[in-house]
Amino acid sequence: MNCPKCESGTLEKRVVRGIEVDQCGGCQGVWFDDDELSKLINDQGASGRALKGGDSGLNRKPGKCPLDETPLIRVHSKRNRSVVIDHCSTCKGVWLDGGEFQRLTS
Ligand SMILES: [Zn+2]
Ligand SMILES: [Zn+2]
Repeated sequence: MNCPKCESGTLEKRVVRGIEVDQCGGCQGVWFDDDELSKLINDQGASGRALKGGDSGLNRKPGKCPLDETPLIRVHSKRNRSVVIDHCSTCKGVWLDGGEFQRLTS
């Protein structure tokens, strides 16, 4: 699968805390299928309205789902509202930019 955020990166399988996820070797972002993120950190997923802006860098860039190419919707995480996640409304997958996963789990 190709990374939804950086052009050159590809996603590679990686096991985090017993759950298989896909991580980009370029930007270190992580893709979670459907309920993988909720299994990992008990996150209830997206909340609130889609965001228009962004905070910085790659995070501003609208991504496309690596599975079905649906444009990802940027929303605050319910668990940590300072973290913005990219959510696919088609397959319910979630993208976290590099470092965001650490912020959610720390
Ligand atoms: Zn990437
Ligand atoms: Zn999708």
